[in-house]
Amino acid sequence: MSEATVEPIWLARLPHEWPSAPVWMSVSSLQSIEACPRRWSLSLASYPDIWSYRGYPPRVYLATLQGHVLHGALELIVKSLARAGCSSVASEDFINVMRGLGGYTNIVERTIAIVLTKLTSNPRFTARSRHVIGELKKTAPTLRENLQILTSKLRLEPAYFGIGGEQQERQVLRDGSYAEIELRVPSMHWHGFVDILTLSESKCEIVDFKTGEPSPEHEEQIRIYSLLWARDSDLNPHGRIADTLTLSYSKGEVAVKPLSSSELITFEKALMLRTNDALATVQQIPPRAVPSIGNCTFCSVRHLCDDYWIEATQKQLAKGQSEALPSELRKLTDIEVEIEQQESPSVWHGTILSSRLPSSTSSVLIRIPPETHSPSGLIKRGRRLRITDALVIDQTEGEPKFPVISLSKVSEVFVV
Ligand code: SF4
Repeated sequence: MSEATVEPIWLARLPHEWPSAPVWMSVSSLQSIEACPRRWSLSLASYPDIWSYRGYPPRVYLATLQGHVLHGALELIVKSLARAGCSSVASEDFINVMRGLGGYTNIVERTIAIVLTKLTSNPRFTARSRHVIGELKKTAPTLRENLQILTSKLRLEPAYFGIGGEQQERQVLRDGSYAEIELRVPSMHWHGFVDILTLSESKCEIVDFKTGEPSPEHEEQIRIYSLLWARDSDLNPHGRIADTLTLSYSKGEVAVKPLSSSELITFEKALMLRTNDALATVQQIPPRAVPSIGNCTFCSVRHLCDDYWIEATQKQLAKGQSEALPSELRKLTDIEVEIEQQESPSVWHGTILSSRLPSSTSSVLIRIPPETHSPSGLIKRGRRLRITDALVIDQTEGEPKFPVISLSKVSEVFVV
């Protein structure tokens, strides 16, 4: 297989065109740019050789898919309840709505199917799809349980007249509950989608559903939503302020202290300063890279990031990983190698060009078990490769004095 015949997705090539700064800022864009501007830009740049969509095909992580499934299933339930005018999970209407949707298990299975369908065009997914699909389906009972818990906490107002994303026009919101409602503030160039906004005479509540563990970023997100709500003059012309901010996790709810009018003014000024900094940062080509264990471990585009593969970065990351990563992730490593001779059909020798392996030699033995999903034709003598998430094999006495790694079901191999 010459380089010309390597599928473009497995070539570590910089983008054809870097992305422009976002016209409308969102919480995810701001938090992502601030964490690592290079990652944001590489992820959203254009790669016409690989596919016709915007951005780099994302690496498919099980936790991300689980989040999509839970969010999609909840959205379906909330919108169906809204359509039926149902306000209480204890009512007969609720039972009828859930029966109409086929019950929790059916909802989860349908949503898994939708999430997986959206992935079929991702060329990076196809290589390992069977493994990821199998893992996701195995977690369906847990997803069902979490969905049931989150649904049981729903507090909705009965006077619905709009269902968020299905609204045709942006108009003043009356009392009621709204799912997936878009808040937009042209003067700030900011927008965001709120999971549930509930308005009544006595209450103005924003609820955001979350998977995973509580984090300061989640609190910041719901506070930003409260600012956008207060400043959205189409939906909220009188500038009513949210008095209840709730983060809803399957393990429980977290109440976030709402901001007063004067606090919102200070918060807005600080947010706009951060926004302007972020916009300036992503206009540099290439934008600054911010390597850290927290940023790089799950970075979907790290094989494209030259700063990540320099020795100084790998040394810095090696120091931090023992404290920051759980033991199962510490067994995985990224390595840049030049392939030398083939030892057997499934074993190659390589020269280490960059790695975090604690090694006094520059050689590495690379095993390629039959179940690996990476195209084995990529591994050829003289080729420079970036291998991500390879498994570090423990060695016993008498075994080779240089490190041994094995491609695993989650490893990827890119030709540099
Ligand atoms: S590898 Fe690390 S430094 Fe490079 S883009 Fe990804 S997160 Fe940023």
